[in-house]
Amino acid sequence: MDHTGATRPDAHLGDPLVVLDGVNKHFGELHVLQDIDLTVRQGEVLVVIGPSGSGKSTLCRAINRLETIDTGTIRVDGQEMPAEGRDLARLRADVGMVFQSFNLFAHKTVLDNVTLGPRKVRKVSKAEAEAEALKLLDRVGVKNQAAKLPAQLSGGQQQRVAIARSLAMHPKVMLFDEPTSALDPEMINEVLDVMVGLARDGMTMIVVTHEMGFARKAADRVVFMADGQVVEQATPEEFFTNPRSDRAKDFLSKIL
Ligand code: ADP
Ligand code: MG
Repeated sequence: MDHTGATRPDAHLGDPLVVLDGVNKHFGELHVLQDIDLTVRQGEVLVVIGPSGSGKSTLCRAINRLETIDTGTIRVDGQEMPAEGRDLARLRADVGMVFQSFNLFAHKTVLDNVTLGPRKVRKVSKAEAEAEALKLLDRVGVKNQAAKLPAQLSGGQQQRVAIARSLAMHPKVMLFDEPTSALDPEMINEVLDVMVGLARDGMTMIVVTHEMGFARKAADRVVFMADGQVVEQATPEEFFTNPRSDRAKDFLSKIL
């Protein structure tokens, strides 16, 4: 609240943290990312929605350098990610990523899954890594599963472990690419609740999801992508009540 009593909706947001400038990418003939300009500010929760094949996953993967780009720049906290080398691993740790498939190491315990990155990349001691891992597992509600193997957990529990594993690297931003799409319906909310908690704690997040309830509850801004382009961006309220483009109207009429 300022002294006029008005609430600025973006008052909690900080400086630009993830900045995409004129990003283009092709897969052969397919122009999968077309002149993408996008700025995500510190503490912002950006929800990316759009039809299948519109380039949402490619966008996430490009931010984390799992895909190269043809032209343009992507900066995280002012630094462009190198294509390879030692700096890449360090900078990639700034960008946590949670995928649709949980990607846990199947033959390692839950605790080892969470401690591995900090020990290898951040050179944290075993004891320190384990102490922090247990706190993170507690935060996502699976501390009592620490000694188990991933396959002994439900999908929702595994995805929460994947979130804890990302957080253990102390990322500056978290990317979520359809994190609940592979889950049975009754497990979706336990994962979304963890994500809402992260958002409330001020984590900067880019979330690709079809969960419009999450977008309404947690998003500062919704970006609608179609055919490799950012077609519109708006607050969730604006976007859901008054989408401007025909593409967005058509998309919303199919999912809502
Ligand atoms: P979304 O996540 O929005 O569904 P994607 O980013 O996964 O979209 O894909 C965008 C387009 O790029 C799709 O047409 C897809 O088939 C294509 N694509 C994705 N990855 C590759 C790849 N490695 N090689 C060739 N085409 C790809
Ligand atoms: Mg995708």
